[in-house]
Parts: sequence; C-alpha cells; structure tokens
Amino acid sequence: MESEKVINFRSLSENVGRFNLSNKIFLIPEMNRIGGHLLAATFRGFGINARVMETYKGLELGREYTSGKECYPCQITTGDILYCMKTESERLGDRFNPEDYVYFMPEADGPCRFGMYNKYQRIVLDSFPQLDRLKIGSLTTKDGYSLNGIIAEERVRDLRKTAYLSQVVADILDRLLWRIRPYEAETGSADQYMEAAMHQMEAAFETYGPKMEFDAILEGMDEILTGAKAVMDPEIPRKPLIGIVGEIYLRTHVHANQDVIRVLEKYGAEVVNASVCEWMNYTSYDRLREAKQGFWYSLRQFRTGAMRGFLKEMISYGGDLYYQQFRQKKTYQRAHGGMDVAGDHQVGHLEDILQKEDLFCFDVGTEACLSIAGIVAYAREGYNGLVNVYPFTCMPSTITSAIVKPLINQLKVPYLDTPYDSSFQPGREASIRTFMYQAEQHFKRHGRKDG
Ligand code: SF4
Repeated sequence: MESEKVINFRSLSENVGRFNLSNKIFLIPEMNRIGGHLLAATFRGFGINARVMETYKGLELGREYTSGKECYPCQITTGDILYCMKTESERLGDRFNPEDYVYFMPEADGPCRFGMYNKYQRIVLDSFPQLDRLKIGSLTTKDGYSLNGIIAEERVRDLRKTAYLSQVVADILDRLLWRIRPYEAETGSADQYMEAAMHQMEAAFETYGPKMEFDAILEGMDEILTGAKAVMDPEIPRKPLIGIVGEIYLRTHVHANQDVIRVLEKYGAEVVNASVCEWMNYTSYDRLREAKQGFWYSLRQFRTGAMRGFLKEMISYGGDLYYQQFRQKKTYQRAHGGMDVAGDHQVGHLEDILQKEDLFCFDVGTEACLSIAGIVAYAREGYNGLVNVYPFTCMPSTITSAIVKPLINQLKVPYLDTPYDSSFQPGREASIRTFMYQAEQHFKRHGRKDG
C-alpha cells in the first residue's frame, strides 16, 4: 500500500457522509473498548457487518501521514484506519476491495478541530491508489447523531434506541471496573472478569437488541454486577475518590492516556471517569437548546415559517433527550441494585452550575461546558481529587484548565492537568504520585461522601 505523492481533493463531500451500510463492513474505531464492542455488536444484531478496528498498532502510520499539528486523536485514528486497510489488503490479496468497507468517523459542528478529522483523513486516504474508494461514514452533532439513511427507515429508531442503551451499559461496565479493580483480591482478576463480561454483553446485544428485548439484555448486566463482588476483597478499606474530566477520546482511550486510571490506582486511588453518554446527552441537549433559542428569535420577528421549523426540531430533539435520560436513569437505578457504581451527571444540572457560578456558557459549546461544571460537581459530591485528561493543545481542555485553576483555591480539592501526546513525559508519574499524596491528605481530613 503506497501513497501517491499528488493529493486529490475531489471527494471531500462525495465520500464523507451518511451511507447505507447494507453489504458493507462497517469499521468502528476503538475509543473506550467496551463501548466500541457493544456498539459493533448492536449493529451486527441489526444486520450490519460491524467490526471494531485494532487500535494504536498503526501509530507510526498515523505519525507518517500527519504533520504534528493535528490533534492527537486524529493522529491515532488516521493510523488505525491505515493499519486496518494495510492488514486487510495483506490478508485478502487480490480479493481486497476498499469499496466493501465504510470507515466510521463522526464529527462535531465546530468550534474546534473535531469537525475536520474526517476531511483530513479523506485527503490522506485519497492519496493512496485504492483507498479513494473507501467511504467515510460520518454522523454529526449537527443533527444529534441521527442514523437516518444508514439502514432501512423503519429500523432507524430501534437501532438508535438500542445503540444508546449499549453505551449506557458500557458506561456502567466501565464504572464497575473502576469500582472493583482497586479492591481486587487477586491482581488481574478484575480485568479478566470484565473482559468476559464484555463478551457476554456483546452476545446479549447481538441477540436481543434487534428484538428490542431490553429486559433480557439487562438481566445479563444484573448478573455481571452481582458477580463482581466475588472479585473484591472486603477487607481492603475504601480509598480516596478521584474524578476525571476532559476530552472524551483521550480520557477513554487507555493507550492514548498511557492508562492514567491504572497509574492513579497504583498510587492508591479509586477513580470515576466522566461517561460517554454524558457527551451523547449533551449533543441532544445542545440541539434542543439551539432550537429553543431559534424559536424565540423567530417569534420576536413574527417569522411563522421559521417558528414552525424550530418547533419541529424542539419536539424531535426534546423527545430524544427525554428518552435518553429516562433510559439512562432507569438503567442506573437497576445497576445500583447489584453494585454501588457511580451515577452520572445530568447535563441540565451541569448547565445550572455554570450559570449560577457564572463560570462559562453553553453558547460557547464544546466539552469545556461539561468539564468545568463536572469538576465543580465532583468537588461538591465529596471527591478527593480532580484530573483533567486531554490531548496536548486541545482547545476545550485548555479553556477548562484556565477557568478551573483559579477555582481550585475555593474548592480546596487537589487538581491535576494531564495533557498527552505520543511522547512519554518523564515527570508524569511523579506528578501523579504527588497529586495522589495530596488526595490522600484530603481523604484523611474530609473522608468521602459515600463513606
Ligand atoms: S476536542 Fe480537543 S482534541 Fe478533540 S478535536 Fe477539539 S481541539 Fe482537538
């Protein structure tokens, strides 16, 4: 697989977008491992041949075909897709046909660089002789990650609901891992247990997802939560609780963040990371918020046609948000019957925090809205330390850091910024250790709210 030197810009709009996935192999990048696998299983249940790509093995390729100015997740995912195509072409030889695949790379509607990843990757793929025929399937925050057009219309709503549930369950399983691993009786048993649990839930989503038999899926989750107690040593006392916020890819991709949660655990932490569904709910919340604003502006100008359009959007995004939050709440309530995993933040509550404290505004957008408010929420909930995990030079996370640092004096909770790129900072572990010493002091003085 060799790159042509002349780059062809022709397909930026043609070959990036929402494509029908029947008879295609749908390639999903691995961000958080469990979430990616449950999503792929859900798609498979609905008849789409979905696969999670191996990740981080193509980092050298990612580096070769980026300039170093791109965000780190762009570098990693560029490497992932190039590596996947390379291994597929070696495996299949003459039978390799890039048109058989659709590579999944969602996007955001600004204001940072996430909206540009798939455009940039299009340019890179087009520079290879055959890969200009590989389509990039993109869902966008612009319409709240609508799935219209990718499968038969009558199945779109069911797929959306099941895909959302798969991400709620993945969040809960991630939280279960962070809840049990610091207290495991035998080193490695929590990871082993969760790997088997992930496969069990993949099978459940593939079998029951398309029939919308959510109870059957959740019975599997109940078993996993209850069974996890056997992994823990009840004699190990509770540890300082650390909350993570930051950029979604970096904070959930264990290779990209150099397994920061495990390093924190090594120095005595129990960790809760911000969830993936928080971001999904935020995109629906933000679209609803924009539709409401549009409605009021058009009402003031008596633009009835525009008012009707915004009203329709309010009903659609409001319905999505209501359903998501309802499903998420019910699933967490059920999970709490089996294990005391951490609950999730509601986006409306996070916006209230920002407004009351006059810290930032949802009008600006980005994950800074969630991270800044998330830090305040964690501090109020009695966490003993707060960590912001993000790619080096990430715009929203740099804003978060700038706003949060002066706040920390008032919140009186230890705080650490951990920017990552593909290099290893020799002082990183020492700074985490120092941070954990401070968190331990906080824990000794204030305890933790949940005892
Ligand atoms: S959130 Fe940060 S890392 Fe992600 S695209 Fe925006 S600037 Fe880049």
